[in-house]
Parts: sequence; C-alpha cells; structure tokens
Amino acid sequence: MNIFCDATTNAFLHGNFTYFVLLMAGLVVIFILVGFIIQQKKTREIMERELAHLASIEGKDVEYELIIQAMKLATWHIDLETMEIVFDNDYREEQGLFSPKPGTRMMQVYEIVHPDDRETIKTQIKDLVEGRTDLVNAQFRMMQTNDKYYWEEIYCTVAERDDEGKPAVIVGTSMCIEDRKKKERELINARKHAEESDRLKSAFISNISHEVRTPLNAIIGFTDIMPMVTDEQERANLMSIVKENNSKLLRIFEDMMNISKIEAKDENQKLNIEKFDLVALMEQCVAKCSNNNTNPNIDIEFISKETSMEVNTDRERVEYIVRHFVENAMKFTTQGSITAGLSVTSSNRLRLWVTDTGIGIDKEHHDLIFERFYKVDSFVQGAGLGLAVCRSFALSLGGDVDFESEPGKGSSFWLEIPNDVTKAN
Ligand code: ADP
Repeated sequence: MNIFCDATTNAFLHGNFTYFVLLMAGLVVIFILVGFIIQQKKTREIMERELAHLASIEGKDVEYELIIQAMKLATWHIDLETMEIVFDNDYREEQGLFSPKPGTRMMQVYEIVHPDDRETIKTQIKDLVEGRTDLVNAQFRMMQTNDKYYWEEIYCTVAERDDEGKPAVIVGTSMCIEDRKKKERELINARKHAEESDRLKSAFISNISHEVRTPLNAIIGFTDIMPMVTDEQERANLMSIVKENNSKLLRIFEDMMNISKIEAKDENQKLNIEKFDLVALMEQCVAKCSNNNTNPNIDIEFISKETSMEVNTDRERVEYIVRHFVENAMKFTTQGSITAGLSVTSSNRLRLWVTDTGIGIDKEHHDLIFERFYKVDSFVQGAGLGLAVCRSFALSLGGDVDFESEPGKGSSFWLEIPNDVTKAN
C-alpha cells in the first residue's frame, strides 16, 4: 500500500498525470476483481446448499414412489378453485377402475359414486375443505360398468393453502379394496350361518322335545289304560286317539328327516322324476284328508276344469306339499270350506292351490311363515317345519310356494311349478 501511495504521490508531485490515471485504473480493477471473487464464493455456497437440499428431496421422492407402488395406490390432487381432479400416479392393478380424463370436475366424479354412498363422501370432502377435519378416510362404491360397482378406499388431506390460509389443493390416494370387501362379506355370511345354525339347534331342541312328548304321552297313557277298558266303543275311541297320535309322531319324524336332509344338502335327496296325472294326485290327496276330517262344520272339496293332466316331476314332493297345505287348512279352519284346485297362471306355470275360510294370518307374520320352526301360536300342535319343507321341495322342482291371507277371513296357499305338461285327453 505504501508503494502505491509513494507512487501516487510521486506521480502527482512530479506532474506525471498519465501515470497517475493508469495507477488509479489498476486499483479499481483490483477492487472489482476481489469483489467478484467474493460474490462467486457466496453464490457457490448457496448453490451447494440448494443441491444438497434437492438431493435429499429426490431421495424422498424415490421412497414415496416405492411406497405407493407397493401399496398399489393411485395418487391424485384436486384444485379447489377449479374443482378439477388429476391423477398424478396410478399403480392400481385392477382393470376398468375410475381414472379421470383431463378436465374432470368433482361433480362428475360424485355422479359415478354409488347413490347410497354419494352423500357421505360429499359431506366428508366438504368437512375437509371447510376445516372441520384434517384427514378424510372413506370407503365407497364406484361405478365400473353400467350396473357393476367396485369398492374403493381413499385417504386425503389439504396440501396447499392460499394467502388467507384457506385450502387450495387437496391431495389423496385411492386403493381398490374389492377383494378385501369380498372376504369381509364371506366372513359375515359365515358368521351369520354359524349363528343361524346355533339358533336353529336351540329352537330344534326346545320345539322337538315338546312336540314329540305330547303325542308320545297320549300313546303311552292310552295304551296303558286300554287293557282295563272293557267297553268296545270306549276301546275303539282310545284306539283312534292312539292312531291319530301315531300319525302325528310319524309326521314330526318325517319333517325332521326332510329338514335335516335339506340342511345337510344330502346328495341322496335326488329328485325322482316321473310322469303322473296331477288331477288324480290332487283328488286322492284331498279325499284322504277329507276322510280324516272329524269336523262336520267344514266342507273339503277339489275342483278342476281338467279331468286329467299329465306332468313330469317328483310325485312324492308334490304330494307332500298339497297334503300339507290341506292338513294346515284343516288345522286352522273351524267352519266353512276348504277348496283345492289347479290352474295355469298367466306366466304359463301350474298353480296348485288350497283355500280355506279359517283364522287367517296377521300381516306381521307373513315374512316368517316359511321359516323353519316358525309358528304364529306356539300352543298349536306342530313343529313349524312343514311349510319350510314345502318351500325347499318347491324350489327343488323349479317352482316356489306363496300365500295370501287375511285374519278372520282365511288363507290361500299355493305351489307353482313349471308347466311341463302333456294333456292326456
Ligand atoms: P307345522 O309343520 O307345525 O304344521 P307349518 O310350517 O306348516 O307348521 O306352519 C307354520 C305356521 O303357519 C302354523 O303354525 C300356523 O301358525 C301358520 N299357518 C300355516 N297354514 C295356515 C293356515 N292355512 N291358516 C292359518 N295359519 C296357518
């Protein structure tokens, strides 16, 4: 510095102005160079910091991508100003899942959410946008094809806010959970089945022990006193009571066997298809029941326009159903009539019906009447199995059973089977 000062003083003192100017210029250049070098050093430090930061972010991106890939997720964001949804990644493997085209708005997405789930998901997103929640986790059904839906699970949260702190962008993930839901449904069904079996087992034990004991007591009691009765008429009466209770007992065992075979889906329960005359079968059935009728206040009859109608189906099962309908009608009718008949429905099915003028069935029991062990009045004789057997038999014949009933007026039960008929005359 002294050298420069001496040189400057010398140059100035000795009047060498040019030399002085050159010296000053040199000094300025040196200052600029030093400043430039310092600036460069600062810039390099900033850039190095930025690069280190970028490298760390890149590392996280790879991790993040790996996670969404492994979880088979789609990631998306919604711009809350335009309400446009954009999928950023889609690693879901299932085919035909929802993926928005550019420009898709949330209103369009809601339209393909299952109607039963639509309002819930709309409310949840609204809660997020309006700050009532920080995170949405929802499961709902999305339309896959016209009438097919799949289950989807989403998680979403607010990713960006505007200057006033209001949500501006939502980010979220979607996962197809159709398989999980299917397994859930299977588990629920298995549990229901187990609970139902348990309920049936208890119902079976309490019903059957009571139903078996009643006729058995009558049989044992009356056969015990029979040897002591000398009057012929009285003996005949006792015999008929014993016979009646024998039939009841047999009937209960028959129903129990049928229902347990149906429950176990017994392979030996194969249909025994044969050709027979349906009119004749119904006539015989009604006649047999009528012979057993001890109530003089009811008329039992069979009416049919046809004199003969050949069908190709399981005779024993049809007979069981018709006989059961007539026997029930007899059990629940104290006066009036019981009429059985045969007709062809507008959908060309055969309808075998039994109508009575009995006590009828209240509406509240209608849905349960074909359930196993169901009885409107638990004091009435019977295990409540007959109609359940009728329904299973009818289904096995490709048909069904149903009824109409009004309390105090009567009931009409019917069996409908496919019209696989050849008219015999
Ligand atoms: P069960 O095998 O004991 O005869 P069902 O399964 O045939 O029992 O019938 C169940 C219940 O349905 C009966 O206990 C009765 O309450 C009602 N029911 C069936 N048929 C008639 C009918 N014709 N009139 C009134 N109630 C009926």
